[in-house]
Amino acid sequence: MEFSKLCETFKLFEKTTSRLEKTEILTILLKDLENKELEITIQFVLGSIFPNWSAQKIGIGEKLIIKVVSDITGISEKEILLFLKETGDIGCSIEKAMEQKKQVFFLSESLTLSRVYNDLLKLSNYEGKRSQEKKIRILSGLLTNASPIEARYLSRILVETMRTGVAEGIVRDAIAKTNNLPSSKVEKAYMVSNDMGLVARMAREGEEALSSLSLKIFRPIKMMAAQKVATIAEGSKIVGLPCAIEYKYDGFRMQIHKKGKKIKIFTRRLEDVTAQFKDVVDAIEKSVIDECIIEGETIGVSHNGKWLPFQKISRRIKRKYDIDEIIEKIPVMTNIFDILYHNGNSLIDTPFKERRRILETVITPVEGKLVLSKMIITDNENEANAFFSESLSKGNEGIMLKNLESPYVPGLRVGNMLKMKSVLESLDCIIIGAEWGTGRRANLMGTFLLAILDEDGKTVPIGKVATGITDELLETLTTKLTPLVEYEKGRELKIKPDLVVEVAYEEIQKSPTYESGFALRFPRLIRLREDKGPEDADTILRVFEIYESDDRY
Ligand code: AMP
Repeated sequence: MEFSKLCETFKLFEKTTSRLEKTEILTILLKDLENKELEITIQFVLGSIFPNWSAQKIGIGEKLIIKVVSDITGISEKEILLFLKETGDIGCSIEKAMEQKKQVFFLSESLTLSRVYNDLLKLSNYEGKRSQEKKIRILSGLLTNASPIEARYLSRILVETMRTGVAEGIVRDAIAKTNNLPSSKVEKAYMVSNDMGLVARMAREGEEALSSLSLKIFRPIKMMAAQKVATIAEGSKIVGLPCAIEYKYDGFRMQIHKKGKKIKIFTRRLEDVTAQFKDVVDAIEKSVIDECIIEGETIGVSHNGKWLPFQKISRRIKRKYDIDEIIEKIPVMTNIFDILYHNGNSLIDTPFKERRRILETVITPVEGKLVLSKMIITDNENEANAFFSESLSKGNEGIMLKNLESPYVPGLRVGNMLKMKSVLESLDCIIIGAEWGTGRRANLMGTFLLAILDEDGKTVPIGKVATGITDELLETLTTKLTPLVEYEKGRELKIKPDLVVEVAYEEIQKSPTYESGFALRFPRLIRLREDKGPEDADTILRVFEIYESDDRY
């Protein structure tokens, strides 16, 4: 298939806001594709070249695209940056530059989908010495042969942000429609495989083939998410009684895959952090014999046995060198709380109480290194409250409440698992804008525009935060946000939604100022949540629930 045909489809997506129409457009496109083209198309529509479970990235920034386009069009980088400021979108800026190109290309061949895909694969594989030169060569080759509209979508695929309003839900529905299958079956297959291209291919072979997709060891799946509740009474209405209650450890979540001697550890964003956590690998080797996928929360432990705040251990996630030294400095302990796969069998449809029972047979505790999460099963509110206080007194964040009968639902917040924290209410927000500081802090970003997610997963602003931020955190935020700046107007910056921060506040108010319809009173930025991606941020529904449930409002 010609790449231009796919670009025409992208253009049609952008012309309509109707979900149904978008689904229809995609359904028509998917019908005629060969298997390989189908998989590539699905990935490109979702704005990446690799399936969700893969940690591989294309690794191309806007700067490099602008440089290459400047070279091949004769339009200065400065001018293209100006387009970027005007449009706020790399795709439209590159398209504009290509339309106005000052140089004529003589050698032009049309781009096929597989050529684009293979070149992008090459880009992601280049590493180390002279990789930049090689990347530039590939990019020039692609863009020289691209029409302006192809360049628009090619740049967006490169930065992995499609902006066509087509996300997983629409793709799932289109796959279902093309193959006359229920969406729920497609959804299930996607949950367990985490690979939409593969799902599309299996769906073609029919319901049976689709249902044969299952968890596969070393292919991480999205982790089940927790809903927030304020009290035991509120929580028990959702999970039912009796329920399981566990300590909520303040560390970070690991999905651990083990088969024979091979062990891999993934974060919640499905990054492979096995190399950084050799000590956890050692503990797993001592503790577990079986083939399994288990989940747990890893916390930092100080040398006098106290649990460390999350910030400390987050340094371990990023560390790529002198790993032994940091293992020594910041030892960790893992609290295992779930099992999704055991000796060849998927357990995600198995009720939680049975999963926990199996987990208890799989884990042999390794003192101070790897244990089962502390849990009680109760139907008594007083006992639950006492357990909550006990958990806080041990330095935990709060408790988790779990429905004993519920399956493991990958990636969703469906009320099977709840969290109840002690601190002032907080929300996980995405930074979508910032302002440069003044005076002493002129070189640092100072005020941050926060957003949550609406029903369609789109970011909607909910307020600004400027207080509660130390100089050190401001520096970190400035460094992390600089590559995400989409454009700058005076002191104001528009930021690509990527970074999640936890924000505490006194109260949620209704407000016409922000698109979400709400605003935060006295917001304070507590910490960066690098373990969370924008898709894990809090939602408008959650904000509405807090607003409704708080009788102060
Ligand atoms: P939050 O990160 O605030 O959305 O809370 C949910 C997170 O709590 C999960 O993703 C886990 O990382 C963490 N957590 C800590 N202790 C437990 C536990 N016992 N069971 C499940 N999740 C836990």
